[in-house]
Amino acid sequence: MTLSAAEIWTRLLDRARQQIPEQTFRTWLEPTEPLEVDGNTLIVGAPDRFAAEWNESKHAPLLASLAPVALGHPMSVVFKVHEERKLRPQMDLFVAPPPERSLGSSDARSGVTSVAQLSSRYTFGNFVVGKSNELAYATANAVAASPGKLYNPFFIYGQTGLGKTHLMQAVAHEILTLNPRTRIIFVGTEQFTNDLVTSIQGRTTPDFRRRYRETDLLLVDDVHFLKGKEATQEEFFHTFNALYEAGRQIILTSDRPPKEIPGLEARLVSRFEWGMVADIELPDLEHRIAILQNKSHLDHLERTIPDDVIRFVAEHVRSSVRELEGSIIRLLAFASLRRKDITVELAREALREKLRASAESESQQNARLTVATIQMLVAKEWGIGTDGLRSKGRTKTLTVPRQVAMYLTRDLLGTQLVEIGNAFGGRDHSTVIHSIEKTEATLKENPVFAERVARLRGALEKIRV
Ligand code: ADP
Ligand code: MG
Repeated sequence: MTLSAAEIWTRLLDRARQQIPEQTFRTWLEPTEPLEVDGNTLIVGAPDRFAAEWNESKHAPLLASLAPVALGHPMSVVFKVHEERKLRPQMDLFVAPPPERSLGSSDARSGVTSVAQLSSRYTFGNFVVGKSNELAYATANAVAASPGKLYNPFFIYGQTGLGKTHLMQAVAHEILTLNPRTRIIFVGTEQFTNDLVTSIQGRTTPDFRRRYRETDLLLVDDVHFLKGKEATQEEFFHTFNALYEAGRQIILTSDRPPKEIPGLEARLVSRFEWGMVADIELPDLEHRIAILQNKSHLDHLERTIPDDVIRFVAEHVRSSVRELEGSIIRLLAFASLRRKDITVELAREALREKLRASAESESQQNARLTVATIQMLVAKEWGIGTDGLRSKGRTKTLTVPRQVAMYLTRDLLGTQLVEIGNAFGGRDHSTVIHSIEKTEATLKENPVFAERVARLRGALEKIRV
């Protein structure tokens, strides 16, 4: 059986991915393309000379060594500059070719093929949906299905590392799949500003305007950076209007809702709110586990990272998805340096600094230990709101943390049962007793649960009573 260049490259990359750090892989190997097979040599195109040389010296030997297993026969890999690629803009911005019908003389300039600087991983398929992001995800899907029609603009906000850029790019990927001729611009707010400044300095503002206004889909990342940039806001306002009126889709991300962006002109705030504003929150424990499992699957690490380690990382790293991913990378590096298998023990060691930092920030936030602080930490640990602890809800998502919080309140503060009942939505004391007993029983039979509660107790004990 003869494999095509593309097949050979896929097989080699699948193996290489397991051996090369994620970041390295993404930076150097992802932007390449298999060009041809010449006997026992695979020729691979890299975007520029530096990338070709770097890959040649750093990765070609490894790739060749993987060939016998991946392909069943030897194969050497040679990198060369992919000429076509060189034409593509290297910045964080791209313009897909315009549809032929609109290829008038004015935009002959854009006859140059340019391509997505989108991350190939930021697709809907790679996005794990949970409570914290389901609205944003559903909206993103709707937008991809009918751009410019339903939710325009689509404004996604949330803390850093929670998947805003991922989701925004997923829409672009989907739209490109449905209609490869769609013209797309993906740009960071900083880049938009720089482009504008450059165009003003070079007296090419008309080109700048045309470029941004002749797109079908405009993605602007991190618009909170518009704060205090008046000239940029002014230009952005006009770009926005031109696109909006032409029925083109606009997607924006920010670390906070439009109203809370300081120094953002009122007219932009109101425009940003015209379509759909959706937030992404912190994922809860189950969601974090699902994200890690997905990641481990994508990187072919199922056999490298056991389930209990996934769970350990998910329980301890709560600040963002990016941190979750970072922990896995760190863990892999740590294990390979020490030539050890990945176990919970090793994870504890590898992530020690991270764990300490997060425990400290939690205890600093709550300088005094009260029922409210216990509720806050427990709720956070289980990824629910504190009101859930006081509500009548009887789903397991709520009852388990509620029982734990009651148990810890009794244990750490010695609060009267009746008072505990009051603090948890007016429950009677027999319910409180039952909750405490239930928690004690689970602590005995379930070591993972016991460890989780012990850790919470540890964090709470650091807080002054
Ligand atoms: P933000 O733009 O909100 O700062 P990113 O979109 O850059 O965050 O996401 C950070 C990392 O986390 C990326 O590698 C992204 O793929 C990953 N990520 C975030 N949310 C999810 C999710 N729900 N499922 C899978 N991966 C996610
Ligand atoms: Mg981002």
